[in-house]
Amino acid sequence: MLSTWVVAPTCLPLVRRRCHVCGSDRFRASGKFRVNANHKLIDAWLLVLCTSCGATAKLTLLERANVRSVRPELLDRLHDNDLGLTAELLQDPVVRRRNRIALDWDDAWRLDTGGSDHLDREVIDVSVRFAARIPVRPVRLIAEGCRLSRAEVERLVAEGKLVSAVRLGGRLSGDFTFTLKR
Ligand SMILES: [Zn+2]
Repeated sequence: MLSTWVVAPTCLPLVRRRCHVCGSDRFRASGKFRVNANHKLIDAWLLVLCTSCGATAKLTLLERANVRSVRPELLDRLHDNDLGLTAELLQDPVVRRRNRIALDWDDAWRLDTGGSDHLDREVIDVSVRFAARIPVRPVRLIAEGCRLSRAEVERLVAEGKLVSAVRLGGRLSGDFTFTLKR
């Protein structure tokens, strides 16, 4: 029987970016946007605050874009400081590349295993789904979900008792399945 685990965000991730005021390298989303319309051109930014000194930085979303090229629904959400939009944009690779930022998901996600019934079985088949593209180590997830230490999980991989089509040693941010036989 296949069990499903879900990696789900619990809050917004932090933004990794150097603060020009204090040198810290973590910002949190303020939940606010700034929109500047000048005739037919529009600029829009997502405002983030340094977690250390509170300085504001702007992440560019739109740069001198033609107003008519911007979906009205997006404009409404920018003007409304839509929190869901902040989450979507932070996960948008285009926004991240443009602003040269990375995300820090530590303490911003949880693993839902749907209970521990499956742990008694001799063979455990698990499908892990990601509700957001959160980079995590499968070894860590499996250790948490199966209530094992990381060293035990690594030993099971080495012994061929824990198998997957993906490499369990690195980081992943997309769905995968694994089988544990003991
Ligand atoms: Zn700062």
